[in-house]
Amino acid sequence: MASHVVGYPRIGPKRELKFALESFWDGKSNAEELHKVASDLRVSIWKQMADAGIKYIPSNTFSYYDQVLDTTAMLGAVPSRYGWSGGDIGFDVYFSMARGNASVPAMEMTKWFDTNYHYIVPELGLETEFSYASRKAVQEYKEARALGIDTVPVLVGPVSYLLLSKPAKGVGKSFSLLSLLDKILPIYMEVVAELKAAGASWIQFDEPTLVMDLDSHKLHAFTHAYKELESSVSGLNVLIETYFADLPAEAYNTVTALKGVTAIGFDLVRGSNTLDLIKNGYPLGKYLFAGVVDGRNIWANDLDASLSTLQALEGVVGKDKLVVSTSCSLLHTVVDLVNETKLDEELKSWLAFAAQKLLEVNGLAKALSGQKDEAFYSANAAAHASRRSSPRVTDEDVQIATAALKGSDHRRATNVSARLESQHEKLNLPIIPTTTIGSFPQTLELRKIRREYKASKISEEDYVKAIKEEIAAVVKLQEELGIDVLVHGEPERNDMVEYFGEQLSGFAFTVNGWVQSYGSRCVKPPIIYGDVSRPKSMTVFWSKLAQSMTQRPMKGMLTGPVTILNWSFVRNDQPRNETCYQIALAIKNEVEDLEKAGIGVIQIDEAALREGLPLRKSEQQFYLDWAVHSFRITNSAVQDSTQIHTHMCYSNFNDIIDSIIEMDADVITIENSRSNEKLLSVFREGGVKYAAGMGPGVYDIHSPRIPSTEEIVDRVNKMLTVLDSKFLWVNPDCGLKTRKYSEVKPALSNMVAAAKLARNNL
Ligand code: GLN
Ligand code: ZN
Repeated sequence: MASHVVGYPRIGPKRELKFALESFWDGKSNAEELHKVASDLRVSIWKQMADAGIKYIPSNTFSYYDQVLDTTAMLGAVPSRYGWSGGDIGFDVYFSMARGNASVPAMEMTKWFDTNYHYIVPELGLETEFSYASRKAVQEYKEARALGIDTVPVLVGPVSYLLLSKPAKGVGKSFSLLSLLDKILPIYMEVVAELKAAGASWIQFDEPTLVMDLDSHKLHAFTHAYKELESSVSGLNVLIETYFADLPAEAYNTVTALKGVTAIGFDLVRGSNTLDLIKNGYPLGKYLFAGVVDGRNIWANDLDASLSTLQALEGVVGKDKLVVSTSCSLLHTVVDLVNETKLDEELKSWLAFAAQKLLEVNGLAKALSGQKDEAFYSANAAAHASRRSSPRVTDEDVQIATAALKGSDHRRATNVSARLESQHEKLNLPIIPTTTIGSFPQTLELRKIRREYKASKISEEDYVKAIKEEIAAVVKLQEELGIDVLVHGEPERNDMVEYFGEQLSGFAFTVNGWVQSYGSRCVKPPIIYGDVSRPKSMTVFWSKLAQSMTQRPMKGMLTGPVTILNWSFVRNDQPRNETCYQIALAIKNEVEDLEKAGIGVIQIDEAALREGLPLRKSEQQFYLDWAVHSFRITNSAVQDSTQIHTHMCYSNFNDIIDSIIEMDADVITIENSRSNEKLLSVFREGGVKYAAGMGPGVYDIHSPRIPSTEEIVDRVNKMLTVLDSKFLWVNPDCGLKTRKYSEVKPALSNMVAAAKLARNNL
């Protein structure tokens, strides 16, 4: 019985890749040093998988930035503005595409399906010339082989690659990305030929778009692509990986009929329908890679339950064709539980990170082949029993309060236009006010202070003093710049979710539980293991202090319930919406305490609301209903004159604009600068009854580039063609924590100048 892993975290158990990348970008180390760290990481992962007994070990799942960008490099599809003229794609060009450089902005980045991982969106047009430009897949295969490890090279499949792309600027509306299929397939064929020549016997194409709602035209592209590839892959075992959701029946029929494909991988954690489809018929002689070990979570697998699923599948596909696998790449979970020194043993027994999941996969495969490790299984069963009965998990008061919410609606008593009037009066803001999203640069010094305080190396008094000074400096800077609604800069926060989770009950924290978000950026999601409540106020002290330093309105800054939920590892023993309602009640208490403390503007960030949207349309409305309801619960009881802001990142709002309006916030600021046109079109096309404050980000904070006043004015003016000036706000795209002051000061100064110009032009 064989075992397989779809993909593995690449950042390293102690974020080695992150530090190597950042030091390289800062000019503190050279390319050779970066290569060395990367290769050490790859080698140790391959060895670890081999030691864990994994039979089908993936390669080319490493990336210096992103696997989709790697595919763009493989295909030579570099947008012309990066000045690449053939040959090897060096770090210069590669990282410019990812991050922009002094003269050219980065390519667009967007969420990878419904995860918190971001990929670099390929920009393809009729002019794009494809060529086999990056041999990374082959090099990595050879690198592993040199160690005596025969791997399964992984490529982003050709159809998913195109479906995840966007048309380059200037191509006509009639342009279809899939029309490029026949241009990229020859390059895939070259790659396959080289892999074969290097000795590969398996190849994995990740085609996760198969789980989406695809029309027959798109499904046909898969049929076409793999028929075209058939002769070049002959002699190879071809695995098509699907993940992140159930497979719709039509997609299932398509993928099981693909030519030249000998194996299909399914996400069976999120895929109970898929399981039924398989049981109703699976093509004879094809391998089934059964993704029973959850790649999206940190909970220990219920081995007994998985084993019975696998046994049932064995009956369908036969013993020698069943392979135990992960539900998706382990990229989306934490690297290794071994590095957790602060979690207690009971909680640890409930968990499995990537390294432990390897053992689960192997343990399942062994049990199926009659070599069940009884000790491993009974420890697992005991852990599940303890989790089910633990008093740490259940808080009766919270259960009662949440149950009482069900079925009722929560909204503010007056409508938004009346509220805006009363806020306008109280806050006395100019037309087209300026603000920022919350965080200011987090200097090394600041991180050090927090770290030392956490480690009890400095006293609370010294800590408060240092943070207070930081807030004072941020307030002063904003006043000097002439920003209208101020923020305190969030210097006391390491992370917008962690900060709250640490103060709420029901949450646990890892010391090393990092998951890659984009490039070198990682997040450390809290683990929600029990019922959530708020023992005491979380932000009032700092917000009050900050407000006392200025006459201008100071925004209270909270993270909303849906974002806390979506950026945490959520318990899998009750429905997500129940956990979300619990968090909403806790945040509601905080909102009310801020209001009582005299904070007149409160921003409740729902940065991640959009990314929790289920991939399949049939499930979306239910999610949006409870997510929006949770947000409304938090501020349903504030006065008209208290202005509620919300902020969202990286979103494609067009399809959920009705839900955004339903959130009933007074002002919403959103990420927009990498996709201005999309938002404009929402309003331009009309039919949207939007009558609240709106701050579409006027510049990209993910790039070091400083926007000019002219370009911001231009954006603002464009917005004014579709949005009434009384609704418009001017702000950056997102928080400034990852930027340097040398970038933030001129950028904000240009932003304020632009807002003034726009005001004067009215
Ligand atoms: N208030 C947060 C900040 O500025 C929002 C961050 C986010 O949207 N991701 O950092
Ligand atoms: Zn944001």
